[in-house]
Amino acid sequence: MKTVLEPQKDVPVFLEADVIVVGGGPAGIGAALASARNGVQTVVVEKFGALGGMQTHSMSSTFSLIDPAIQGGIITDVISRLREEGGIQRDAAAKTRHAAFTSTNFDCEVYKAMLDDMMAEANVRLLYHTTGVGAIKENNVLRGIFIECIEGRFAILGKVIVDSTGNADIAWKSRTPCMDDGHGRGPKKGRHMGFGCRFYISGVDEDKFAKFKKENPEEWTGLYGGRSLVTQAKADGRYHGYRESLIIHTGRKPGIAMIEGFNYPLADGHHGWKIEDVTAGEIDLRKQVWSTFKLIKGNIPGFENSSVEKTWTIPIFRDTHRILGEYILAEEDIYTGRAFDDSIAVSNMGPDIYGPDGEHVYEVVRPHDIPYRCLVSKETDNLLAAGATISADFYAFAADRYCAPSMCTGQAAGTAAALAARLNVTPRKLDIKLLQDTLRGQGARVTVKDMPESVLGEYETRFEKNKNIADV
Ligand SMILES: Cc1cc2nc3c(=O)[nH]c(=O)nc-3n(C[C@H](O)[C@H](O)[C@H](O)COP(=O)(O)OP(=O)(O)OC[C@H]3O[C@@H](n4cnc5c(N)ncnc54)[C@H](O)[C@@H]3O)c2cc1C
Repeated sequence: MKTVLEPQKDVPVFLEADVIVVGGGPAGIGAALASARNGVQTVVVEKFGALGGMQTHSMSSTFSLIDPAIQGGIITDVISRLREEGGIQRDAAAKTRHAAFTSTNFDCEVYKAMLDDMMAEANVRLLYHTTGVGAIKENNVLRGIFIECIEGRFAILGKVIVDSTGNADIAWKSRTPCMDDGHGRGPKKGRHMGFGCRFYISGVDEDKFAKFKKENPEEWTGLYGGRSLVTQAKADGRYHGYRESLIIHTGRKPGIAMIEGFNYPLADGHHGWKIEDVTAGEIDLRKQVWSTFKLIKGNIPGFENSSVEKTWTIPIFRDTHRILGEYILAEEDIYTGRAFDDSIAVSNMGPDIYGPDGEHVYEVVRPHDIPYRCLVSKETDNLLAAGATISADFYAFAADRYCAPSMCTGQAAGTAAALAARLNVTPRKLDIKLLQDTLRGQGARVTVKDMPESVLGEYETRFEKNKNIADV
């Protein structure tokens, strides 16, 4: 590639903090609240104008598999507060002891406003519309980050940086070793999951749609249906989507339907970090969405007067980069429910995989530990990963990138960052027992070793029953 010289210049320091959290998705929310609640100055740098990450910018307003026996601490606070503020739309977590295999849905707008309040209450400093564009790195030690915002380019200095960007943006841009592909098994090795999205339709007559579904049980099962409609539209060249059926959620807000099930598969050599692939994916997803909307509006009773209410700010780029940590969480760890001495969070999530050929597979696993070493960069000091940036192979990543494990690894990263900043040690040197005890003291679930047999037994039964059910 041809190059030009960018002139060197002094960059003003915008602020100094103990902990800098880059990215305000579920992982960044967990990290920021944990860090500030542990008594250190904490700043969140977020590219868009609200917290929530994909939960709000991409309308992934679902906490899957919430189970207070598995996750605890900040995620419990967040869900309880959402409940208090009337922001929960489907409260699976409250209906059963745990909500394994069900989802807790919430209202993105209530969530955004509530998170602003929670951050203010915890004394977290927020910088919205601000992008972390690089790291200030001396040898292998991070001293802060460079940011760009409407006021210009600045530096933020800090003792520990949590990269919760969902794509290891800070690590990648600071030439910290990252992983992407090549850690999968079998034919998926070296491949990437594609991009995805959801969209909302308003003006829906839900009663009419429900009646239609009831009268057509051969076509509709719960959320899934419209099979012959899709087959015919595909044959006529009127449908641009990869699924054989439609997925339509109603009952979240009156008159609103949420449509999902879109995928832009990535062929070999195409990636979520290549801007031309990203642009092509955006355009293709929009085509999928509009052909789906036209199909629904023109053919399904209840949608005659509907319109597209909302699409995403960013689609889901399922896997881009993640930090290469001191340990790579592996496929066998999550299937066997492995315990680790340095565990900092537990996950009950299985791999949710969108394959290169458009197939979608969800696999059930056992509750498993996430070791602290998956959060600690193998080479760079003062850098911690959280959420979708943790060090994991293809399958473990496909599971633990989800919202609940992301918020829990965020809580662990924020707590570790605060302790390291307070004790003036690098996160790598932090006493793991101190971290685990601090997390336990703040309500987090730290390891499967702490779980009662009754909880693990229940999951074991589910695992045995579902382990061969792959396709969803
Ligand atoms: C359509 C869709 C459906 C989904 N369904 C579910 C579901 O049902 N259940 C579930 O649990 N999960 C679901 N997910 C996945 C889930 O949303 C993600 O796995 C989760 O949000 C990851 O959390 P995170 O905090 O690690 O990253 P993200 O949510 O990606 O957050 C990262 C944040 O960092 C910001 N950022 C990125 N780079 C920078 C930078 N350089 N500087 C500043 N800020 C930056 C981004 O703007 C973003 O706010 C879905 C996702 C999508 C899009």
